[in-house]
Amino acid sequence: MQRIKLIIPVIMLSLLFTGLLFTQSEKAMASANLSWGSQGTEVVTIQKALNNHGYWCGETDGIFGPQTYTAVVKFQKTKGLNVDGIVGPNTKTALGLNANSNATPSRSGSSVNRGKTLTMIATAYDPCYQCNYPYYGAPSYIGLPLGRGIIAVDPRVIPMGTRLYVEGYGEGVAADQGNAIKGNRIDLCFATHQQALSYGMKTVKVTILD
Ligand SMILES: [Zn+2]
Repeated sequence: MQRIKLIIPVIMLSLLFTGLLFTQSEKAMASANLSWGSQGTEVVTIQKALNNHGYWCGETDGIFGPQTYTAVVKFQKTKGLNVDGIVGPNTKTALGLNANSNATPSRSGSSVNRGKTLTMIATAYDPCYQCNYPYYGAPSYIGLPLGRGIIAVDPRVIPMGTRLYVEGYGEGVAADQGNAIKGNRIDLCFATHQQALSYGMKTVKVTILD
């Protein structure tokens, strides 16, 4: 499968890589930004601010769902912010919220919970030229070498760096992204092209390990 990665600044890449090495800081980063699926008191704060600014996102229930996402996107478009539906430091500042208010983020800010099982559509790839054009030779999104155990996910569904158990595949880490890997899609890296071809496409249960 052809994958098109987002180009991110080197500084962000090194931050993410550092985060993978130090699980604590990775978890802090994963919950620092609020996105679709996030829950908790920080989401309530965001929802109140959106409603106060006239971007109705429904009841302030602390669940970042479709209404909140739509309100965030509208707000970002109006304010000339990067329109990604993710409430990061810039969007928080524009909402009049202190971007540093979550210096001690809770796990509830993360979009997935340990032990949770998701049903996902899995496809397969490998480090070869054909599967990675035009990024052949490049490491995964967070800088890990491609190989078995590397899994491409939608970071809005599963944060980068999350360890996963995939039915029929085994353990891996959410370490890559792809333009077709959105929502309940997952792309499993295998050692060889033949193995990836043999895998094809399957519906699998994915368990969040941490
Ligand atoms: Zn291949």
